[in-house]
Amino acid sequence: MAERNRKENIVLFPFMAQGHIIPFLALALHIEQKKKYTITLVNTPLNIKKLRSSLPPNSSIRLLEIPFSSSDYGLPPNTENTDALPYHLVIHLIQASTSLKTSFKKLIENLIEQGDSPLCIIADIFFGWTASVAKDLNLFHAIFSGASGYGLACYYSIWMNLPHRNDVDSDEFYLPDFAEASRIHVTQLATSMREADGTDAWSIFHRKKNLLEWVNSDGILFNTVEEFDFVGLSYFKRKLGKPAWPIGPVLLSYKSQARVGKEGGTSSELCIEWLNTKPLNSVLYVSFGSMNTISASQMMQLAMGLETSGKNFIWVVRPPIGFDINSEFKANKWLPQGFEERIKGSRKGLLVHNWAPQVEILSHKSVSTFLSHCGWNSVLESLSHGVPIIGWAMAAEQFFNVKLLEEEMGVCVEVARGKSCEVRHEDIVQKIELVMNETQKGKEMRRKACHVMEMIKNAMKDEVGLIGSSVKALDDFFSAAMSMREKTKKEENPTA
Ligand code: UDP
Repeated sequence: MAERNRKENIVLFPFMAQGHIIPFLALALHIEQKKKYTITLVNTPLNIKKLRSSLPPNSSIRLLEIPFSSSDYGLPPNTENTDALPYHLVIHLIQASTSLKTSFKKLIENLIEQGDSPLCIIADIFFGWTASVAKDLNLFHAIFSGASGYGLACYYSIWMNLPHRNDVDSDEFYLPDFAEASRIHVTQLATSMREADGTDAWSIFHRKKNLLEWVNSDGILFNTVEEFDFVGLSYFKRKLGKPAWPIGPVLLSYKSQARVGKEGGTSSELCIEWLNTKPLNSVLYVSFGSMNTISASQMMQLAMGLETSGKNFIWVVRPPIGFDINSEFKANKWLPQGFEERIKGSRKGLLVHNWAPQVEILSHKSVSTFLSHCGWNSVLESLSHGVPIIGWAMAAEQFFNVKLLEEEMGVCVEVARGKSCEVRHEDIVQKIELVMNETQKGKEMRRKACHVMEMIKNAMKDEVGLIGSSVKALDDFFSAAMSMREKTKKEENPTA
């Protein structure tokens, strides 16, 4: 059986951004471990090089290069990842990525010729156009979303309908085909979305090249859990008439995460030693994900809020917006006078520069609450450990994740919104106390977060007689891919 499984080839094709490549790598490792299939990860040469050094030594994941020359598209030379680009050029890389269609098709045709025809192609939410390539070649195709069902449903609906453009007199609006999301405020829209009017580059990309193509796919895999994200999943089922398979949480192990992560200022041993000295459920962990930071004035207020709250905290700091995010952090410039010395002296706070061992921190029993930008990986990592969230979304669908977590799941309170909003340290203190103190709301949130942790554990159960919803969804996905292949074979060769 294992030998037969080995022959199945699964092609994975993430968009060229760390926030997309990382969940795909987690998916690749998950499928490899669960199914023992051959996994082929496709990307442009520089990303493949980086991926090569990120793979665990014992992994048999195959890496295949697809040619790409950024300077052909007016981008700086050797730019193959959004990491290397200022925000306003990200859309240019996205547009340029649509030109990969011909070479991607060729690459798949070569695999077929070599007798290594993929059982399925799993592509990024930005690569809707790969669905027609798969269709042309009679291959099973799925989109893989590292975002929540709910977050992606809002994202999809807003791009396809631009509802905030219909009533320019109001700052609030409803989604015409996703009423479940109730009211949305324009401050919950990322800049590209808020400014979109149907003629801009983002709208044209999503409406003509990407989202529109999703109906050609055979379904969507979600890094989520059915039990708490069914509303968003049902949006796609009815909208596209295709299955949505919730197979999560698929997360990188701490070791794999360290391999793909950035340089950290504080080792994981130091963080854990520091946490070991703190009482149970007494620490607030603060981080804005892998690529975001806040403005200088927000940073000042956050520091004042943390100090005034009197709580223990670990804060992943980066230079504020407007400075090179990878440059040295200047505490004397960006934090209140004497802040760093005081928190060191009192041992109340630990500043971690640039990158922290997040999963290790969240799994420590001293951690009580996570102040997070609510990127979906951070959310899953937090809830997998029963840690409630104070939400401060920065970009993309994170605002909708906060909505889901606060309004539907009751495991989050929002403290601020976006990179430029005004935030007062008094409000930060109030939210920290609400969640971390023995308030009615705080207790309720912790109870609900623990309940979600149980849902997550159950979804991933894979025991005889006890198969969790996420394990079943992955099995269903591969069964669907195999049925399609059998059907295609019969159609091509009816007498066989
Ligand atoms: N991460 C980490 N250390 C950090 C910041 C981020 O390990 O200091 C990891 C985090 O555990 C998560 C990922 O980076 O797995 C961030 O993904 P998420 O979807 O939360 O946000 P994004 O970075 O895509 O905005």
